[in-house]
Amino acid sequence: MWAAFHYTSEYADGKASSAQNNNTVHIEHQQLDTMIEKSAHLSGKAVTSFVARAPGVRVVPFSLFPTLRVKSVTGDGGTPLNFIQEDKLDDPDFWVVLSKPLEVGEKYTITTTYDGKDAVSNQGGGNYFPNAREDWYPNAAAGAFGEYTNYDLTFRIPKGMKMAATGDLVSDSNEGDHNVSVWKSSVPLAVAGFNFGKFKVIDTKLDKPEMQVLSYANEDPPSWVQSLQFAATGDRAGSAGMMGYNGDAVGGALGSMSTVDLSKKALGEGELSVRIYTDFFGPINYKRLQITQQTATNFGQSWPGLVFLPMSYLFDTTTRHALGNLMRSMYPTYSDDPYGYFKVVAPHEVAHQWWGQTVGFNSYRDQWMSEGFADMSASIYLQMVYAKEPQKYITFWNDERRLLTEKNAQGFRAIDAGPLVMGWRVVNSREGSSNYRALVYPKGAYVLHMVRQMMWERQSGDQRFKDTMHDFVSTYSGKVATTEDFQAMVEKHMSKGMDLAGNHKMDWFFREYVYGTYLPSYSFESSFSKNTDGDVVLKFKITQSGVDKNFAMPVPLYLELANGSIARLGSATLVGNSNVDQSITLTSLKDTPKRAMINYYDDVLASN
Ligand SMILES: [Zn+2]
Repeated sequence: MWAAFHYTSEYADGKASSAQNNNTVHIEHQQLDTMIEKSAHLSGKAVTSFVARAPGVRVVPFSLFPTLRVKSVTGDGGTPLNFIQEDKLDDPDFWVVLSKPLEVGEKYTITTTYDGKDAVSNQGGGNYFPNAREDWYPNAAAGAFGEYTNYDLTFRIPKGMKMAATGDLVSDSNEGDHNVSVWKSSVPLAVAGFNFGKFKVIDTKLDKPEMQVLSYANEDPPSWVQSLQFAATGDRAGSAGMMGYNGDAVGGALGSMSTVDLSKKALGEGELSVRIYTDFFGPINYKRLQITQQTATNFGQSWPGLVFLPMSYLFDTTTRHALGNLMRSMYPTYSDDPYGYFKVVAPHEVAHQWWGQTVGFNSYRDQWMSEGFADMSASIYLQMVYAKEPQKYITFWNDERRLLTEKNAQGFRAIDAGPLVMGWRVVNSREGSSNYRALVYPKGAYVLHMVRQMMWERQSGDQRFKDTMHDFVSTYSGKVATTEDFQAMVEKHMSKGMDLAGNHKMDWFFREYVYGTYLPSYSFESSFSKNTDGDVVLKFKITQSGVDKNFAMPVPLYLELANGSIARLGSATLVGNSNVDQSITLTSLKDTPKRAMINYYDDVLASN
């Protein structure tokens, strides 16, 4: 991006909106016929129907993986059309030249044939890795996720392989040397995708919500793991000491690297995530959730009804640690799981079925809602599933805060890099490339968490938060939402206690944490005594610092009661660099609490 300018009205408001849409066409329907050979060579035919959004559209850009070379493009009635696609190492962007300019709202259909290697790679052992995720077909060029399209998909893959794709499975059969499967979207989808391999499939059916959850795993490792196994066995006899790891552990663990047993874990986590998120956020329109293994070890991904989990997630801790040791011998800074990534990768990716897929984001300014909400959803998963180990939930938020406040290799903290709505534009050569990940995920998660904590009420618990999120999901299902849409939804459901400015607006909160880069610090002192009636009296002082004079925040107070349970007492609202110094008589308590605390559940994102 060379330069970016806002509308005059945005300068006047002092706030940029993310509602702009720069695509000149909207793709309504895609019919994709795709053949993938044993070698992973892909050939495709796409029938793409779109409608013009701007007057006089004559040249239409598409997003297509650079090594997929276009053979032909035809328009209405089979007329050959000109197209542009330079060499993959030059400027391979794919543009189609229409035979005439389109009026706004005018429909047009093109048929594109293309083929090439590297869009998918054959990794050995029946493992195929889709390199091209959103551009294995001619997709919308800008903001691929802002568009919702209907898809009809047909895949031909080598016989013996199993396909998992987006949409409902219409048919699955063998024809000659190929497995042929047909898929149809029942609602418009933000993207289409697939994963296939020599998968073993296990599944379970949920009735509330009605959904089939399937888990796909390959018994055979890809060839690069096989070579690691070989290296491990070799090193055990030879240079184990030099490699700096315990050869027995590595050899033994890598010897049994089958992921199929642990596929059950993926199925279980998928099922639990779906139940918990449906309760908190409301139902979604997908009836099939396929959780699939991918050979990448460093990331997961989520397409509509299709989750890609890193193969390493499916390893047990011992194996993952052994693999980590091997990786470290090659890359000294490699870390097994520095911020608890593997603990929540499945719940995070399943949450993207709600955030990013069902509710889309309009631009990079709103992407924090996709990644941040998915991370925050994973915290609810930890809180619900590990109710007997509450420390997991606390640790999760400590890790998120650490990501935001630790200096990166260039000496910068993500929290200072820019506001959430800057999205990937916080990445630059001076401050390094880590700040997008280290800002958008944890801070986006904190923003939603803070909304939840502000909405929590003693009588009804999370009900107000659930109502807000159900409303948000049903309003924006199959559409994009902007940051401003989300603020309006929070304002629709806000409590009196959240109305700090007395104007039924949440501007104060969004200014501080979404459009701003504030990070307050708090200190807290407290003591207990008894009054003449024998009631427990709490005396406390909360000090807020490191902010400007308008920074306002309700800070929750908690008690650890004599029996060890945690109770929320209320909250104290602080404005600017100031303190609240108060005594409260706790008439309902017989025994003196063990301690008083603020921010026990990381209710407010603060420096400590
Ligand atoms: Zn994510």
